[in-house]
Amino acid sequence: MSLRGLARLVRRTGRVAEPAPPAPEPLAGVDPALRGSVQVRHVDAGSCNGCEIEIGAAFGPVYDAERYGARLVASPRHADVVLVTGVVTRNMAEPLRLTVAATPEPRAVVALGDCARGCGLMRDGYGVAGAVSDVVPVDLEVPGCPPEPAAVVEALRRVTGR
Ligand code: SF4
Repeated sequence: MSLRGLARLVRRTGRVAEPAPPAPEPLAGVDPALRGSVQVRHVDAGSCNGCEIEIGAAFGPVYDAERYGARLVASPRHADVVLVTGVVTRNMAEPLRLTVAATPEPRAVVALGDCARGCGLMRDGYGVAGAVSDVVPVDLEVPGCPPEPAAVVEALRRVTGR
């Protein structure tokens, strides 16, 4: 498609993002320096990938988490928020600790999904080290298996305060 054709398509399609729901209650205890905009490093500590699909949707054009100041980044060194999915497997316990330690302060850790919160379906797995809060301090937990994209966006909005 030519550039002109693409521009016409964009004009014709318009915005597909859902209207913004009212801002959620800001998360208590979060450093004010994190308000406004945060960079998010996602860590899959042992997920089935269901939570990742919802995170993908949360940052897609319909839910558009970036309009509330949240952006995914590839390195914990560039991040303010560590977004953890899945139960923490034994092999991922130390990498998770190191990732959180590599994220500059002030930072926030979000445990996303029932596995991250309390081991969920994976509770009795032989390779399970525990829930996220058993391994690193957690600031916010998001329930659901998996949480809907709107819940992912709401959690990030609670950190950015937007
Ligand atoms: S909470 Fe549900 S969707 Fe998310 S990793 Fe666990 S089993 Fe998968």
